[in-house]
Formats: sequence, structure tokens, C-alpha cells
Amino acid sequence: MEHKTVRVRFAPSPTGHLHVGGLRTALFNYLFAKHNNGVYLLRCEDTDLERSTEAFFDSQMRSFEWVGLIPDEPVVIQSTRFAQHFKVIDSLIERKKAYKCYCTEQALAARLGKTDENDFIRYDRYCFYNQTAHDEKDPFVIRFCMPESLSEYIFDDLIRGQISFSPEQYDDFIIVRTDGVPVYNFVVVVDDAFMAITHVIRGEEHIANTPKQIAIYNACGYKVPFFAHLPMILGASGAKLSKRDGATSVNDYKEHGYLPEALVNYLAKLGWAYKDQEIFSMQELITHFSLEGVGKKGSIFDPEKLNWMNGLYIKNMSARTLYEYMCTELEYRFGELLPGWSQERIEKAIDVFKGRVITLEELKNELGTLRGQGNVLIPEFTKEMKQYVAMVRERFLKEGISANTIKEVAKEADVPIVLVAQPVRLALIGKLHGPGIGDLIHLLTTQEVLERLKKLEDVPFI
Ligand code: GLU
Repeated sequence: MEHKTVRVRFAPSPTGHLHVGGLRTALFNYLFAKHNNGVYLLRCEDTDLERSTEAFFDSQMRSFEWVGLIPDEPVVIQSTRFAQHFKVIDSLIERKKAYKCYCTEQALAARLGKTDENDFIRYDRYCFYNQTAHDEKDPFVIRFCMPESLSEYIFDDLIRGQISFSPEQYDDFIIVRTDGVPVYNFVVVVDDAFMAITHVIRGEEHIANTPKQIAIYNACGYKVPFFAHLPMILGASGAKLSKRDGATSVNDYKEHGYLPEALVNYLAKLGWAYKDQEIFSMQELITHFSLEGVGKKGSIFDPEKLNWMNGLYIKNMSARTLYEYMCTELEYRFGELLPGWSQERIEKAIDVFKGRVITLEELKNELGTLRGQGNVLIPEFTKEMKQYVAMVRERFLKEGISANTIKEVAKEADVPIVLVAQPVRLALIGKLHGPGIGDLIHLLTTQEVLERLKKLEDVPFI
């Protein structure tokens, strides 16, 4: 029995940075390929020459590298394949499966009564039946002869089951525009066939395009691949996810300190489930992924859940790994953030803070507090706070620095420990809330501790 290798692709247009929705589609393709020992490919759909830029292409590639979705073969650049596209168009015209159409907008409006550009009025095949002579300079489009046979309008979607369309909704659509550029619905088929794609996994906005594409596959004599259309990602309002929902480009997530492992885990769970497991390594995703696990309904993008996951990944990562990641991927300059601190000392500090943050950006800000804030002015500052800090400092000077001192001072002043710990923390890192005093004094030198406590005693009231 012939065993065909699974080959899938993600085909973004380089007209913007990679968006989280796109990354999810790419990820599902990747997981499907790897689960089936298949091949995952990328195609850059840059035929919209005005909106496509090299900078966006590079940015998308960097995002894929960042999350580790590396294609198994070189990226196919669609615009380098124009000659092949036109070969296929010539052959379709020769076989009367496509034809030049010279009908102008005005002629169509007069003949078919089309008033609004967006109205769908079936083209009447005028130019198919009337191949009159034209001047070479006359503008024309090329239309594809949409077949009448019903089978072309029905397909089995691997996620949604059988989907059928009425042929009335389709006509001889344009495959090459007047400017000579072939359209998406045509090139996608030629290129998918060229890349020997076996499964087309993409967003559900392409469902209605599928009958057109199937008809082109058949007209060209290509084998029709399987189709799987992924449900939409929705914003909190229930409408399609947009910038308003706070979802931004993959770049932005990186810059704000989300870990690639967390973003991948979160996106994998967006519309796909395996038992009730939430946390997956890439290897586990590959092992368990299947299209049967993908739901039919749209899923709501929940930033809170992503935050929870990111915090969890940060907490579970070693300080060394986090340090190295922050230096190399995020280019944080610890020499400036914490001047004079050794890597070892920073790693100790990371261990103290990593369980308390959502993002690495937040971790960086928290680490920055260790630098000492100078004089701190906060509205809650009281005479008592100053007094407890002075008591703590006195004991530190006499007995050496120990977390126990906080307890003893609280006892002496007959107040809860927290009332002593808070102003001491304020002195050490400029904040009332944060890690335990024991952790902080462990990270700072004796001199730093004593100096900062002294400084707080000098802070005026506001
Ligand atoms: N460039 C198309 C898009 O971004 C690809 C669609 C497809 O996968 O067929 O929507």
C-alpha cells in the first residue's frame, strides 16, 4: 500500500508582523506534520507586491525561529514562481478552462445591472462565448471556467465534516487581474500542488474559497488535498480577535517578556484539547496532537490564562536559563540594571523573584528594585514606620543582620510582624510588598542593608 508522507504548509503574506492567530495556524500545521512524521513547510505569499515587504518577511521568520517552528525545506517565495503560474494559466486557456475577459465594469453594470462593487452578480460568460478580436492594449482579466458539476462544491473538512455550497454562489471568477497579477485562489493551488501538500490546514475564513480551489485542482489535473479549517479565535466580546482585545503581534509578546514555550502551550490549547491536561512541552504536543482534538467552535483569547501560564513557565525555569534568555533574546543589560552585580548574585535574585511575576519584563523591573531607590516618598509613610526601621538598624548593627530581628522588633513594639517588615522592605527595595526580608537581606550586602535603612530614616514625610 502506498504510504504518502504528510506534507503541510503555513502560507503567510508578509504584509504585517506575525499575529498570534497566524502563529496558532502555523503551530497546528507543525504539530500535525510532526505527529505524523511528516514535513512542515512555509510559503511566503508575497504576490501583493504593494503591501508585502522584506522587513515583514524577516520579522515573521524571526518569530518562527523564536518559537522553534522551523520548516523542513527552504521557504518557498511565491513571487519567484510567476513564470510557473503563467505556464499553468496558458495551459488552462488552451484547454478552454480559462479565458480572457474584456468586459469593463461599466459593461458589466449595464448588462447585469450591477450597481454596488461588492454585490455578487454571476458573470454571464459573455467573453467565453464571444471571443471577438481585441486590440493588444485593451485591458482584460482572465476568468476561470467554474464547472457546473456539483461534486466540486462539496468537500469533507477534517474538522467540520461535509460542507457543501450552492453553485449559484460561484461564477467564472477572475484568476488574473487587469494588472497581470494572478490572484490568491489560483496561485495557492498551483503552489500547493508544486509543494506536494497533502493537507491544507488554515483559518475558517477560507472555507468559501475551497470550492474554487477544488475546481482549479481538478482543471489542472492535480490531486485534491485534504482540507481542515480551524475555527476562529475570538476576542472577549465574541467577535473576531482584534487589537482592541489586547492581542498583538508575536514580536510584542516576546518584547514584553512572554516565553516562547508559554505562548506555544497557550495557543495549542486555544481550540485543541487532550484530556484535561493544560501544560504541555513541545514534545508532548507533538505526541498528543490530532485534528480530532480540534473543536468546531471559536475559542476566546483569554489574556489572563496566558499570563497564568507564562508565570508558571517562568517559575519552573532555572535562574540560569532565565538569565541567559534575558541577556541573549531580550538583550537586557544587567550591567546597567544592577551595576557591579555578578551573574551568580543576579541568578540568586532571579530565584527570589521568579515565582512572583507574570512576565520577564516584570521580572526585570523587580530585579531593578534591588539597586536601591534612593529616598522613597509614599503617602502611607508614618512616624511608626520610621521608628521600626531605626530599631531594626540598631539591632543589625549590634547583633549582625538576621531575619529574626524583624520578629524581635515586632515583639518589642508589640505590633504584628508585617508592620515592621513592610517599612524595612520599603527601605531595601522601595516597595512595601515583595519578597520576604530574609530573602532580601540574603541578596544585599551588609553595607547596602545598613545604608538603605539609614536612608529611610532620613526621608521626610509628605
Ligand atoms: N496567504 C493566505 C492567508 O494568509 C493563505 C491561506 C491558505 O492557507 O490557503 O490567509
